[in-house]
Amino acid sequence: MQRFHQNRRNQAVRDACAETRLGAADLIPALFVVEDENYLQAVPGLETTWHAGIKRLAEALSPWFALGMDKVLLFGICPEEHKTPDGRAAWSADSLIARAVREIRTRFPAISVITDVCLCAYTSHGHCGVLTAEDHQESCQIDNDATLPLLAAMAVCHARAGAQWVAPSAMMDGQVQAIRQALDAAGFQATRILGYSAKFASALYGPFRGAAGSAPGLGDRASYQMDIRNGREALSEIAADLAEGAAAVMVKPAVHYLDVIARARDKWPEATIAAYHTSGEFMALRAAAQAGVLDGRKALHEQLTAIKRAGADWIITYGGAAWLKQAEEARW
Ligand SMILES: [Zn+2]
Repeated sequence: MQRFHQNRRNQAVRDACAETRLGAADLIPALFVVEDENYLQAVPGLETTWHAGIKRLAEALSPWFALGMDKVLLFGICPEEHKTPDGRAAWSADSLIARAVREIRTRFPAISVITDVCLCAYTSHGHCGVLTAEDHQESCQIDNDATLPLLAAMAVCHARAGAQWVAPSAMMDGQVQAIRQALDAAGFQATRILGYSAKFASALYGPFRGAAGSAPGLGDRASYQMDIRNGREALSEIAADLAEGAAAVMVKPAVHYLDVIARARDKWPEATIAAYHTSGEFMALRAAAQAGVLDGRKALHEQLTAIKRAGADWIITYGGAAWLKQAEEARW
């Protein structure tokens, strides 16, 4: 008989024998930057993060950094009147995200700033790239190759502002290569790419789309995001991103795709793998906790630990602060 109970006898022994340890630096909070410089409000429907203007960024970010987090992922909220079919507000020299990056780099020099690179928050139709001319407003077919230089321009804009990482989430084929080449050509060889390599066409993005104002006006994203049924293809997507120059890769969502994370970890032991614990995953737990169905903080800890145990190095999550604080946050 093996005495497995020996290592489970009390908390100290369990802690000593734990195979997986979750720390603050594993967790990456996401923040939504808005045009109004003095605005700071919890995001409606996603209350553990913020809609923050440039002058209130430090106020929003400081509590997270005080908990030990050392990275942040930024999304821009584009005013409706600035949205265009090609999303050009995304790559203007003085874009919202460029200004936010400069502010954060100045105020928090030790923090790694990761910027989301995608057009959906900036296009009038809400898709992640430009649409083909013939299909405009019909089946919402994406013009993959015409989108690549736009994503590249957006990434260079963020790198120029000081972002250490750019994270293309548009799921365009060849986006990592196009961005890598553009960054190198502009002299930003040190700027790293976190590829949203295996991003599935998931039902779990709802609260985020409300927060980012990026829901597609027509159609869905199934023609460019991954089919939820495909695991082997996910590995091909990750392989392509690594070959194209991604310094880190991502699986999104996380909990429903632990198999993909685990297979990627086995296949690329040396790779930095991120997982996106999506708004839907987090808010489902929160709703269950608020309904008294389960202990939300424990369940969140279990999910985040499972994501790390499966092989993720980094976890983007809306619940990081809620979990890290010893007392359950009022907003959570
Ligand atoms: Zn997008």
